[in-house]
Amino acid sequence: MTQPTDHSPAFDPDEVRAKYQQERARRVFEGRGAIQDLRTDARFADYVRDPWTPFVERESISDDVDVAVVGAGMAGVVLGAKLRDAGVKRVRLIDKAGGVGGTWYWNRYPGLYCDVESYIYMPMLEEMDYIPSSRYATGHEIRRHLDAIAHKYDLVDDALFHTGVESSEWDEGLARWVLRTDRGDEIRARYLVHAVGILNLMKLPRLLGMDDFEGAAFHTARWDYEYTGGGPDDAHLTKLADKVVGVIGTGGSAIQCVPALAESAKHVYVFQRTPSAIGFRGNRPTDEHFADHLYPGWQKDRMENFSATLIGRNQGNDIVDDGWTHHVAAVNNPPVTPDMPLEEVLRVAEQIDYGIMEEHRARVDEIVADPAVAEALKPYYRYMCKRPLFHDEYLATFNRSNVTLVDCPHGVERVTEHSAWVGDTEYEVDCIVWATGFEAEVTPFARRSGHPIVGRDGITIEEKWKDGVKSLHGIVTRGFPNMFVMPAPAQQSVTTVNYTHLAVIGAEHIAATIAALTERGVKVFDVDQEAEKTWTETIVSFWRDPTAFMAACTPSRLNYEGHPEMANARNGSYGGGHGDFIGYQELLEKFRTDFDGLELDEAPESS
Ligand code: NAP
Repeated sequence: MTQPTDHSPAFDPDEVRAKYQQERARRVFEGRGAIQDLRTDARFADYVRDPWTPFVERESISDDVDVAVVGAGMAGVVLGAKLRDAGVKRVRLIDKAGGVGGTWYWNRYPGLYCDVESYIYMPMLEEMDYIPSSRYATGHEIRRHLDAIAHKYDLVDDALFHTGVESSEWDEGLARWVLRTDRGDEIRARYLVHAVGILNLMKLPRLLGMDDFEGAAFHTARWDYEYTGGGPDDAHLTKLADKVVGVIGTGGSAIQCVPALAESAKHVYVFQRTPSAIGFRGNRPTDEHFADHLYPGWQKDRMENFSATLIGRNQGNDIVDDGWTHHVAAVNNPPVTPDMPLEEVLRVAEQIDYGIMEEHRARVDEIVADPAVAEALKPYYRYMCKRPLFHDEYLATFNRSNVTLVDCPHGVERVTEHSAWVGDTEYEVDCIVWATGFEAEVTPFARRSGHPIVGRDGITIEEKWKDGVKSLHGIVTRGFPNMFVMPAPAQQSVTTVNYTHLAVIGAEHIAATIAALTERGVKVFDVDQEAEKTWTETIVSFWRDPTAFMAACTPSRLNYEGHPEMANARNGSYGGGHGDFIGYQELLEKFRTDFDGLELDEAPESS
């Protein structure tokens, strides 16, 4: 299905656009993006509490480290490992969670799988001598793997878990970052790295009466197995046999947990605001001969192959060969020639998109027995308006007599003591599962970091980046010496479907940079003003305004809930669009040979 001609059914652009526009209009309404402030609103404290690890009191600490890393998720763990490989001794990971794993620490809902192939998503497989058990690994397996890396590289004993950084401030006299935490710690670090994650802020919609609800209620990222029965590796939710459950949302988390809920609960209402495009998954156990032909460097090659396929730079050898490399790659890279008029380019792209969406809609008809339910489950928008999903059990769940789809383009509107409401219709439920996701991956870093970061002359990162990012490579920024931010979407680096690839690139780069600067005796680096200006201008020059495309999209977290004009040219990527992975890596490698663009203070240390 890689050839565009495969996706070319009869296509009337005007008719399709009118239908998409009509469906979009049903979902645009005032306040659709309103969310609770989970950081400050005490009414929702139970929603954020850690269900997995008991909180243990400890003494505050005060110490000096080589590198402090905020965040012990995938990025923090891989960075820690790479720092160890580079010979860095005193590394402290700090995280609000009770252990490592980030997303994979918090999310343990039944049915949790990674939606990217495990052989490229699970990092450091070669270093760990590990082969995932299936093509798409369970959350449980991924979490155990990240934990194993953290233990192997001796990152756990020095980590501070259940610890929130409240401020990080550059101290010019000490030439150190000083971090203060909610446990009363003071950590002085020569280097500071922010590895805070990209979907790290849980989202609950702001609906009338939410705190009046008297049943059980939790977010998918804090699953309550005490209430449901079962466990992260046991999807038998034995305590739900007499319970009516309402699942709010139909994104990536919902489609994975709904089949398990349907197996166990007396009844499940699935409240759908927008149907997702759900492609074929095709998970399977890892072939027993998988490892037979592996060679040193195989995982890096496989990651590169996947990323190259998605940006249309693969020469016909699609190793991963799944829905991402078929559909996403086809939509992102329509077969156009340089001499094609723009109008023709757009038409070709639209037609390919239409063909792929028709396949998704036909799949719903094939699987879902009731034609009215099937129609309501069909996505009518362009493929990349929302992150595509892949699943092979979710749609069939709607053939069960104990599952009801509640199609509600304005979503659940209010909650009362025992019910969720859509318009005047009441749905009585014992339990509400909020599968309402996370603040978008384009959320500015200052918000994702969750604490004030104060650089030279008292300037915060929030102030510096208030009109958009200013950086070198999306990783370092002037006025914040000896500080790195892991590359992320909307942050002047590159964007990717396989976040692990970006995390590995960022971790290797930052670790190698720290090692090389230490080796050279550099005490303090800062970013040269001109280099930062040039990089920012380069990013802006790649920007192709996506407003027109996104404005026609159904509202989603990717288009600022229907306000695509909020996108900022300064927050684009290197190469435009998803970014040029290959060029970006070459550029980072070159930078590490001469550190061109950094101001280096190589004076002997005074203290
Ligand atoms: P999501 O994709 O943002 O979905 C949130 C859902 O909640 C949407 O369906 C949204 O509707 C709905 N919603 C919000 N307010 C509502 C209301 N008042 N009433 C009814 N529905 C409401 O979040 P997610 O499913 O947690 O996934 C987030 C991202 O995490 C994914 O895109 C993916 O990148 C990642 N993820 C990955 C995996 C994996 O790899 N295994 C699994 C889960 C998530 P609208 O669509 O109308 O906005």
